[in-house]
This record gives sequence, structure tokens and C-alpha cells, in this order.
Amino acid sequence: MFDPLKEEITPEILERWDKEYFWHPFTQMKVYREEDNLIFERGEGVYLYDLHGRKYIDAISSLWCNVHGHNHPRLNNALVKQLCKVAHTTTLGSSNVPAIILAKRLVDITPECLTKVFYSEDGAEANEIALKMAYHYFYNKGEKERKYFITLSNAYHGDTIGAVSVGGIEIFHEAYKPLLFKTFKLPSPYWYCKEKYGQLCEECKEDLLNLLKEILDKHHKEIIGITLESGIQAAAGMLPYPKGFMKGVEQLAKQYGVLLIVDEVATGFGRTGTMFYVEQEEVCPDFMTLGKGITGGYLPLAATLTTEEIFNAFLGEFGEAKHFYHGHTYTGNNLACAVAIENLNIFRDENTLSLLQPKIKHLTERLKEFWELPWVYDIRQLGFMAGIELRKKNGEPFPYGERIGFKVAYKAREKGVFLRPLGDVMVLMMPLVIKTEEMNYVLDTLKWAIKEVLQKED
Ligand SMILES: *Cc1c(COP(=O)(O)O)cnc(C)c1O
Repeated sequence: MFDPLKEEITPEILERWDKEYFWHPFTQMKVYREEDNLIFERGEGVYLYDLHGRKYIDAISSLWCNVHGHNHPRLNNALVKQLCKVAHTTTLGSSNVPAIILAKRLVDITPECLTKVFYSEDGAEANEIALKMAYHYFYNKGEKERKYFITLSNAYHGDTIGAVSVGGIEIFHEAYKPLLFKTFKLPSPYWYCKEKYGQLCEECKEDLLNLLKEILDKHHKEIIGITLESGIQAAAGMLPYPKGFMKGVEQLAKQYGVLLIVDEVATGFGRTGTMFYVEQEEVCPDFMTLGKGITGGYLPLAATLTTEEIFNAFLGEFGEAKHFYHGHTYTGNNLACAVAIENLNIFRDENTLSLLQPKIKHLTERLKEFWELPWVYDIRQLGFMAGIELRKKNGEPFPYGERIGFKVAYKAREKGVFLRPLGDVMVLMMPLVIKTEEMNYVLDTLKWAIKEVLQKED
């Protein structure tokens, strides 16, 4: 038996315990246990270091949340400063300093109609809260016949049951179907347009909006709202919408008196080139959900922003029991909010968004080179988010079990680039602070890795 008091925990012991005790998310553990895996020990800027001291560029921002780099002195200081005051105090009926300041800051930087902030810990919860609030809003107004949401095929809003119900990625969601609530579904905009018009275009946007209008015409009295990711279906493989689609959805929602829930969990905090994608289409939804980059990738925190109108429907005397009966133990955690405030300060002080613009252009330019590779079926980009879809030379997808995306990612690791694909879509979601040379290294390595893995294939 290992005695932690007497023996040192070596890398070999950690590797063994990892396989023995730790069940990893979104991971086939049978395969994981047969492979060598990355165990990270520390980070610095865009670099991560594993147990053996090997260095990797974090080209997926540690699952799309890191913004200003790892181990950032200012974020560390903000955290330590708060830690020396208090780590956590409940916000159920009481408050704390960083949670108040962050709420004000979030209201200031989001579209004008959003004036209230409800905290949670992960993107899925932020969406779950938006769904419950939207339903409950009509319930409090006495409109109890409203039970359904309109959702998009290929949507991803997280993994709790409500978030899965409004999601639509077959491979993630299929098994849970009997547990999910019913929704009305629009086709996935990207694939619908690609199939019908070969590209995203104005006509296709109009077709999609007409489909939405048909559902609303028939069912609006039973509809609570429309849920969608902002600008791009990220987890489905980086699938952007046609320009103006979100604006059109907003107009229809208003026209038919249903609520609009926009998920900015992936796109928020600069990923698309503006702080939030909704700014690019001048959309102000009834709910906007935030997560991932909100703490710069430091701590689990999420937020559901909503309007005065929604908030007011929950006001009443205590005995009327109209309040929102929802909360989590760590809602509005002091440490997470303190680091989120500093994350915003860094955006402001370091001009993160203006420095990002040339990097987005550079990414667009360099992505074009990937068309040279015969296995590149599609290249998609929105701001600093990008996906390169790999298929066989004849355009058919590789069999799922071949794990081509993972093989390419593992190959890239050999040269110190950390990637995690979505199926066979190679995702690039680099920290916003990455330097051009570092971006070039990521892109060169990815191109090399694709060739290495696929040159034997036809
Ligand atoms: C990642 C993601 C979520 C889920 O967030 P978690 O923090 O993983 O629960 C929800 N929506 C979108 C668009 C996401 O990309």
C-alpha cells in the first residue's frame, strides 16, 4: 500500500492513480487508460507544462476559457487579495463585495436592455437558469399554457438535462432522449444553407427565418422562447450562421411576443473580435448567458443576464411566493467574482480587443493555406474561433471509430501544441494574448500533423 506520509508522489504514481480513480468528462475511459495522457502541472502565458516538464502551446485556451494567458500576475494578485479577505460567503439573501461590483461591470459592458445579473458556476447552469426564468416569467404573468422552446438542430448549451433538452447534437444527446422535454426544432443553419445554396447567403437566411415564422404562426401561444448560440454553433464543429440571422430571430421573437435566449458562453469575452457577438448584429436578447472566458479561464463562474421586464415579473410580497426559487451553494462566489473583475480590467488596460484585430486577419490569411491539403473539406471561422474539418479525399467523413481528429491532435502534441478536436474538426481557439509567432507555430504544426496522419489515407 502507498503511504503518502512516507513516499513521494512521483509522476508514475500520478499517472497510475489518474487511470485508476479519475473518471474524465467527455472521455472514453477504456481508450484513455490504454494511452499516455497529458497531466499538466503548471502554466505560463500561452504555455502549459506537463509532469515531465514538457511544454505545449494551449491552442484551445484550456477548453475555450483562457483569455489573457495562464498564471497571469494581475489575475493571481486579484485572487490572492480576495483570498486574504474571504474565499466564500453565501449570496442567498446576503451579498458580497466582488459579486456586486462584477454585476455592475457586466451590465455596463453588455447591450443596454440587460440590467440584471444572476450568477452560477458553469455555462450549462447559466442556460438552465435562463430556461427556468423564461418559463417562470410567463407563469408569474398567468400565461401557464406556454411550455415549449424553439431550438436549433446541432445546438449545444451544456450537459444538464434542461440544457440537453434545448441542445441538438445527436452523438451527445441521443441516449437521453426519453428524459428530455419536447422542443420545436429549426434545422442547423450552417448545414441547411450549405446543402441548399452551397454557402451562407441572404436567401438562405430568409428561408430559415420563414421556417421560424411558420412555427411561430402555428404555435406562438404555447411558446416560451427561442434558444440559440450567439453567431456560431461552436460545439457542433464551429458552424457560423448567415449574417443577420440573429437579428431576424430577434425581430420575430419580438413580433410574436416570445423570449429570446442567447448563449454567449463560448463567444463571450472577445472570442469573435468584439466583447460579445450580439454587438455585431445589434441584438439585445431577453436573456444572455455567459461562462467560459468570464474569469479569464481561472475559476468556474457563469452568469445569466436579463431585462427589467423579466425581473419585475418576479417581484411581489413575500407571501405571494413569486420569487425565483433557484440557487447554488457557490452562487456569486467571492474569489471567482474578484478574478472576473480583474479579467475585465485587463481587457481595458491592455487593449486586448484592438490588439486582437490584426491576429484575426492573420488567422484568416493563414487558414487559406489549409485548402492545399486534400483532406480539408471545410474551413470555418468567426473572429478568433476557427475549425478545420477533415474528411476523406472523396468528401466522405472518416468513420467515427477511426478518431482521425484525435490522431492529428496527438501528433501535434509531439511538437508541443495542445489541441482537442470536435470529431474530425480541428478546433483553434487560442488565448487572445497569443503572439503572431506563436500562432504561426500552432498553424505550422497543425498542418504538419494533418499531413503526417493522413498521407497514408486516400
Ligand atoms: C461550453 C458551452 C456551454 C456549457 O458550458 P459549461 O461551463 O461546460 O457547462 C454552453 N454553451 C455553449 C455555447 C458552450 O460552448
